[in-house]
Amino acid sequence: MSMWERSRELYERAVRVIPGGVNSPVRSFRSVGGAPVFIDHGSGSRVWDVDGNSYIDYVMSYGPLLFGHAPALVVEAIRRTMEQGTSFGAATEREVVFAELLCSMVPSLQKVRLVNSGTEAVMSAVRVARAWSGKPVVLKFAGCYHGHSDGFLSNAGSGLATYDLPDSAGVPPSLTREMMTLPYNDTDAFVEAFNSRASEIGCVIVEPVAANMGVIPPKEGFLSALRELTQRHRAALIFDEVITGFRVARGGAQELFGVVPDISTLGKIVGGGLPLAAYGGKHEIMDMVAPTGPVYQAGTLSGNPLAVAAGLEVLHAINRNPALYNVIDEKAAKLAERLSAAASAAGYPHRMNRVGSIMTLFFTDHDVVDYETAKTSDTALFARFFREMLKHGVSLAPSQFEAAFVSTAHSDADIEMTIDAARGAFSALGAEASSG
Ligand code: PMP
Repeated sequence: MSMWERSRELYERAVRVIPGGVNSPVRSFRSVGGAPVFIDHGSGSRVWDVDGNSYIDYVMSYGPLLFGHAPALVVEAIRRTMEQGTSFGAATEREVVFAELLCSMVPSLQKVRLVNSGTEAVMSAVRVARAWSGKPVVLKFAGCYHGHSDGFLSNAGSGLATYDLPDSAGVPPSLTREMMTLPYNDTDAFVEAFNSRASEIGCVIVEPVAANMGVIPPKEGFLSALRELTQRHRAALIFDEVITGFRVARGGAQELFGVVPDISTLGKIVGGGLPLAAYGGKHEIMDMVAPTGPVYQAGTLSGNPLAVAAGLEVLHAINRNPALYNVIDEKAAKLAERLSAAASAAGYPHRMNRVGSIMTLFFTDHDVVDYETAKTSDTALFARFFREMLKHGVSLAPSQFEAAFVSTAHSDADIEMTIDAARGAFSALGAEASSG
């Protein structure tokens, strides 16, 4: 009997009523083979599936769970809050405290608006950026993912990278005409773009650490070049910190690299595992948003009490623990080093990219610095590695082009077990290869 009997049954039911059986394509196992594992519950660093198998989890809901699954503080805050009502469609004190806290933690934020998803945050940020600059063209970088709004679905990372989709059907060319895509980390191409089209470029958006084509750190000088030229030509610089916010440092990548954008988007960790995201920036820009200004953006469930309560608890927990990022980064560094050593010992060419507690093991012998080099990875080998890791009790995202997320709940023992699992997985792959 398969160890995933019940997952398989649920998947067969799911595909009849949900496209591909999943509510987001990144959850599908299409690129790695097999039916997705259906999760029953999670606690700390672990998840349990519906067949009773448990895994050390590095998906961590694709980033939100800085403190692991179901941390008591967050669960208790949600419980307390929901007893007093789950949505009002009216302002609450908690939102004010939350916005004050966000502005005190993230360098670029003077004013912030809450929304429900990263997609919505980016869509809204770009709208206000275009209004502020008065220029239509949005410059983005190949392999970065900024949610699924129409204009952003060409040359994007995440699920589009996994399934090698250059763009999405259903997006008319008229909607992508004002988008420009350049290679990530290519400062020369960026300078050239501004030399030729500065009068049209109203907004530059970037993942300050790319994490949707696997993890790719910004090259020295790349982010500061973006800052300098956008400032000179009155284009708004947007850092999409949906993954990096509260992940790579308390103040996100902008704090880590010392480059402050005009607008930031936040998601994932900021909502403590509930649907909440945010965009914000300078007063001058954010005051253009309705009802103060002419840029319309709204939401029935925006600033939802449960999500804000969870987010607040997480931000407080971050602020109570100044050593948090040192501790988690050190743990992740140890995991990265030892995973890389296990791959080397087994003779698999690879690159390990890591920034803080996010990392990707790419099966390639090229340095991975942009989308093109990420795509040199052996995705068939990744698929086999992924399946072996799962059998050995480790849950990774089912794609070469995603990050592994380490949380504060991952213990030294978890790291040891993960390395043992990786050794086991590589040795199974070797046996598979030699038996042909
Ligand atoms: N921006 C980035 C950098 C992301 O990683 C994501 C989601 N992975 C998004 C935007 C979109 O966020 P959401 O899935 O919440 O819409």
